[in-house]
Amino acid sequence: MLSLTLLCLLIPALSFAQDGSISGPTSSSDAAGYSCNASACKLPKCNCASTSPPGGLDPADVPQFLVYTADDAVQSYTIDSVNQFLAQRMNPNGCTPRMTYYTSLNYTNYTLVTDWFVAGNEIADHTMTHVGSPPNDEIDGNLIALNALAGIPLSSIIGFRAPYLNYTADTLSHLAASGFTYDSSATSSIPVTENGTDAFWPYTLDYGMANDCLNVDGLCKGKPKLPGFWEVPMYAMFDSLGIDGPHLMDPWLDPADGSSTVDDNATLTYMQNTFLAHYNGNRQPFGLYTHPIHTATTYPGVSASNSTIDMINSFLDWAQEHEGVWIVSTEQLLAWVQNPVPLSELDSFTPLKCSVPEINQSICDGIPDNEQGLPDLCDFPDFPFYTCYGCPVEEPSPDNPNPPQQNASNGQEPRYRLPANCSTPWWDPVKGTCLCSGASCQYHDISRPIGPNGANLTGGDTDRASSGIPSPTASFLSFNGNGASASFPAGTWPAIMVGFFGIVGGLYLIRI
Ligand SMILES: [Zn+2]
Repeated sequence: MLSLTLLCLLIPALSFAQDGSISGPTSSSDAAGYSCNASACKLPKCNCASTSPPGGLDPADVPQFLVYTADDAVQSYTIDSVNQFLAQRMNPNGCTPRMTYYTSLNYTNYTLVTDWFVAGNEIADHTMTHVGSPPNDEIDGNLIALNALAGIPLSSIIGFRAPYLNYTADTLSHLAASGFTYDSSATSSIPVTENGTDAFWPYTLDYGMANDCLNVDGLCKGKPKLPGFWEVPMYAMFDSLGIDGPHLMDPWLDPADGSSTVDDNATLTYMQNTFLAHYNGNRQPFGLYTHPIHTATTYPGVSASNSTIDMINSFLDWAQEHEGVWIVSTEQLLAWVQNPVPLSELDSFTPLKCSVPEINQSICDGIPDNEQGLPDLCDFPDFPFYTCYGCPVEEPSPDNPNPPQQNASNGQEPRYRLPANCSTPWWDPVKGTCLCSGASCQYHDISRPIGPNGANLTGGDTDRASSGIPSPTASFLSFNGNGASASFPAGTWPAIMVGFFGIVGGLYLIRI
């Protein structure tokens, strides 16, 4: 049983290894046919595709952003994998770097998503079941399920990356219509040092796409026009073959320089050379786009190379020795592009500040130190997961991303899902109360047209009656433990869970 579970987890994780490889340019200026009226297109709502920094800044005043992303399921071994590169680091303002996790839901442990979000990282959409050219319900269902089972506010899930980077013009149109702020599936495939480079700073689609014109139908020549919707290109690295030697995701898996075998030293060399080309030029962002499974050391049966792990840390050590280098999430990068303050003012730039909420009560709030065994194990055969927000009666799926909550066992009350007026760090899903009411945590989630037939849904359910927002279909409804009263005696619930975790502890330790 156990080994079968492991096998099920391993196969899909490894099958994603081919995500996002390119072999040559995916655009050209001819194919792009891009023109943008810079005098009409102004920040923060509009930005022309340009290789020059936003806001007319001199590159010397521009930070060198190093965008760090991870894709696919969130599991303890993937979080461990990311932490071995970021947890020990600091940005120039003394804060631990944040990153973006493009999350797909099969094999995802929802409680870890909650934790990762509360720690300040960005949670973004990578479809529910990891499909390219994604149908709308794969995109929208991900928001609904992450809101319900990981307690992520709808207003905080602003970005999308297509599985296999396989997207269409319709994907972009749907993202814009569903209230996303950006997509990050397109490739910048020509070195910044080449004439005609497509290494554009993030831009809005007021004048259409300027990347991937040769690869994706219906892009470029002014299409698709999606005012205010951003593309954050993924910037390839290039080995000694230059434009003919691109590397995009998990570059440490690729042989370099025309060789047939992987060589960490060769990878390090071209990563450094590409970084310097950005740093000494117009400082377009530099990206590390990762699948954490490939550098996991805590997953049975996967043996990541220590040499590769050391090489990646050596690269980051080296990059951080350069002045003005900041490791950021996509969301943080975009916040700066929309409001490009000079490098000298970055230490006090709010989106880059540390955000550690102060919670001194023991709630199931996503802060591991305070959880005290409160997550439920939802023991579905395909992929068991934990959640603080109550197990659904069946696995979430694109057809039903928000199944009703299971009847609680052991005399427990149903959990309260995140409401629209309280953000994740403050919400106690056991008692159904918000632990912060001061000005520092005032909050209201937004509605997005992601329900059946485009119906507006708002974050959580508890606020629905007073907000006047139309209710979704019945299968989406019964989510918030309607009418549940939090009458469980204090302390009883953790005691039950200690016993419960004793039973499942073995399973937990092998990193489901
Ligand atoms: Zn993926």
